Amino acid sequence: MTPYRILVIDDEPGIRSGVRQILELEGYAVAEAESGRTAFSLLEQTPFDVALIDYRLPDIDGLTLLQAIRKRRPGTMTCMITAYANLETAIAATRQGIDFFLPKPFAPDDLISVIETLLRHKKVREEAERLRRAHEESLAALATEQSQTRSLVACLHDAVLVVNRQGTVVLANRAMAALLGHEEPELLQRPLADVLLGPELAPVRALLDEGVAERAGFELYLGDRAYLVSLTPFRAPDGTVLGRILTLADMTALRRLSIEKARFVRTMVHEFRSPLGAVKGLLEVAQDKSLGDRLDPYLPMLARAEQRLDGLVELIGDLLSLSRIEAEQRDPVAPPPLDVAPLVEEVADLCRERATGRGITVDVEIASPLPPVRVAADDLRTVLVNLVANAVKYNREGGAVKVRLSPTAEWLRTDVTDTGLGILPENLPHLFDEFFREKRKETRDIEGNGLGLSIVKRLVERAGGRLEVSSVVGQGSTFSLLLPR
Ligand code: ADP
Repeated sequence: MTPYRILVIDDEPGIRSGVRQILELEGYAVAEAESGRTAFSLLEQTPFDVALIDYRLPDIDGLTLLQAIRKRRPGTMTCMITAYANLETAIAATRQGIDFFLPKPFAPDDLISVIETLLRHKKVREEAERLRRAHEESLAALATEQSQTRSLVACLHDAVLVVNRQGTVVLANRAMAALLGHEEPELLQRPLADVLLGPELAPVRALLDEGVAERAGFELYLGDRAYLVSLTPFRAPDGTVLGRILTLADMTALRRLSIEKARFVRTMVHEFRSPLGAVKGLLEVAQDKSLGDRLDPYLPMLARAEQRLDGLVELIGDLLSLSRIEAEQRDPVAPPPLDVAPLVEEVADLCRERATGRGITVDVEIASPLPPVRVAADDLRTVLVNLVANAVKYNREGGAVKVRLSPTAEWLRTDVTDTGLGILPENLPHLFDEFFREKRKETRDIEGNGLGLSIVKRLVERAGGRLEVSSVVGQGSTFSLLLPR
């Protein structure tokens, strides 16, 4: 262990050497300074545990020296040694922060016991300082943690409000303030009853008034928005309730989704029931032999039944496609680059068959060369079959369908233009909704389930592309598919 370092500052050589001898025998390391200047330079070089300072020095007075030591080496314990100690000196030195007085002459034992006392004090002082620093650091850490928690809560999308045991608001975030029509600080330190006003918040007040200890939740409608209200008590480690946290989670989007889902299921059931009902009716006619014993009169009805069943099979296929796209969306795979031109020709050939029956031409125009695009071939085939088949289906007898491919700076553009019925402007925003079909007398006899374009939309979005529609009623429509290059 390194010995404690003692500095004795005295102009009397006898005192210095006496002190040195006594203290070195006790195992201390002693340095001597005969003047203030020497003391300064020694203190500059190394720290000392204790400085014994003579009040009267040839160059600097003891008080000035003491002041300098307290400033430069605050860890050094100081003791005034003087033969001229009087009350004034003592008061002045105490004011400067002197730790001890030892009047000259002193006995060796006195000196030793003073040094030991000072060293003990030094240790206590250092420990106190260490504790103070640790305390300061933990306070700073706590403040950071608190402000982090506050900013976290402030940013939450859910509305949060915390009340203490007395029912006073101690924390409220931005979402809650907006919901209650206040500024955040206005809510703090107010009784909860003062901030939860209005009849629509009555159920929340009732919940709080019940003094429910455990978590509770219910749905609440405020204007056109739906919230899930929950109240959770928070407790001290010993289990006593310190307060409660009220949260209002905005469920509007989820609610809307579940309404849409229910509507989807209702429409789907209807789409299933109507062809099945029709087929059942036809079977009953046949069973009852309502049209006689010969088969011929039943043939048109059977053809109709087959048509309805085909529609049903198509509907099932489309529903499966929709759910497959949804499932694949969760696990997307980047497709390899695809040369689009041959695929477009293939689709045009496929649709031409049905088109020629009604005197409709299907032409493909390709500006070459075309850039490859990253889209799955099956997806693009489905998209193009739907667009071109619709262009034929909603066309007039002897009309025309043109598929035009052209690259732009960002996209590969495919325009499918027809000379058909066109679409009413008010229906354009709904074209891609599930089961949407235009209800016009011109479309009444055209078969379809309204799922084709919703499948198209999902596949195009999955490929990072876009769809645009322009249409003039009675003249025709253009569906444009834009795929990123
Ligand atoms: P479906 O053709 O089976 O009814 P789609 O989802 O393919 O279903 O199309 C939805 C609706 O959009 C159609 O019912 C029709 O009213 C309209 N539509 C689609 N394509 C065209 C088109 N090229 N011309 C006119 N109307 C169209």
